[in-house]
Amino acid sequence: MAETGTALAENKTLNCSNCGAPIGYVEGESVLTCEHCGSATMLAGFDQIVTIQSHSIIRPKLDENAAVKTARTWLSEGRLKPAGLGDAADLKSVSGRVLPYWIVKSFASTSWRGMNRRSRTVGSGQQRRTEEYWEPADGRFSENYTWPVYAREDEAEYWGLKFLEPGQKCLFPDWRKFFFSFGMGSKTSPNANLLEGKTPFSLDGITDSGLRIVNGQIVQARAEETAKARIIQAHDAKASGKATKITDCDTTVTVQGTELVYLPMWEIVYGYGGRDYRVLVNAASGAVVAAEYPVGKGAKVLNFDLFFGILGGIVAAAGFGTNHTGVGLAGLGLIGIAVVYTIISLASGRK
Ligand SMILES: [Zn+2]
Repeated sequence: MAETGTALAENKTLNCSNCGAPIGYVEGESVLTCEHCGSATMLAGFDQIVTIQSHSIIRPKLDENAAVKTARTWLSEGRLKPAGLGDAADLKSVSGRVLPYWIVKSFASTSWRGMNRRSRTVGSGQQRRTEEYWEPADGRFSENYTWPVYAREDEAEYWGLKFLEPGQKCLFPDWRKFFFSFGMGSKTSPNANLLEGKTPFSLDGITDSGLRIVNGQIVQARAEETAKARIIQAHDAKASGKATKITDCDTTVTVQGTELVYLPMWEIVYGYGGRDYRVLVNAASGAVVAAEYPVGKGAKVLNFDLFFGILGGIVAAAGFGTNHTGVGLAGLGLIGIAVVYTIISLASGRK
């Protein structure tokens, strides 16, 4: 109960429109799943009860142990993580939830117009010069989506809920105060088919797996509006990379069907180096949907060395190449910093 986060929530009951069993709910929840027969009911406004037509679940394949194993394997891979993180991660908690998403099947098509900045050489001999000019450009692109909209009010109630949306940041490396991260180690979510593997809703094997069903709160029409708005946003962002200046961008979103789908997720909290980090594992596909992780010493040394080494090399070459010995020595000094940093880091033995 603590997870609903509101002290004002009032417990109510209504009878399942399919089997008649009582369904308990908290005021504010509007998509209810009967724990007896598994049918779903949508409360669309006051006293108006609608049975949801398309209601399915992606069946979990990973139990708690398998999810933890998946997370540990993931933590032991990749060059940015500390060596041995998979084994060293201190398991703090595991929570399993079956979360309601409205999956809005849609087709989005965008046409855009803009201008590209170009340069050309004009004249000849003494009059030869480079001039800039603008060239008009336009184009179209389109994409199919199974766009997920979390079917509850508070997208922040559990960690990682939004990370299923295509283009959302989903990997969070913890560089601590290290300055030379260059944005490495983060990633955005792919446009994956979230309806793959869906089956008609049934609670078989769910309740005893430790996964808890979470009821939805927002109705279909609102989810479709949200999906449209976010797809348009995503296409605007994509279009902005197509030309130097975008003057016109028009996206049409056609909703082809919307389903309430329950996705099973394991949230794993682990400790490392005095901090807590989280990993979200899709219990059906076994994919790591989102994760936070510490960055290891090796990656920091490499980034630091690349930065000072390359900078030092350039400065040294420029200095000695033009007979400015002082500048050349400064370049060598920068390379020296990289070498000293590496030696100190390796000698300190901290991962
Ligand atoms: Zn029922």
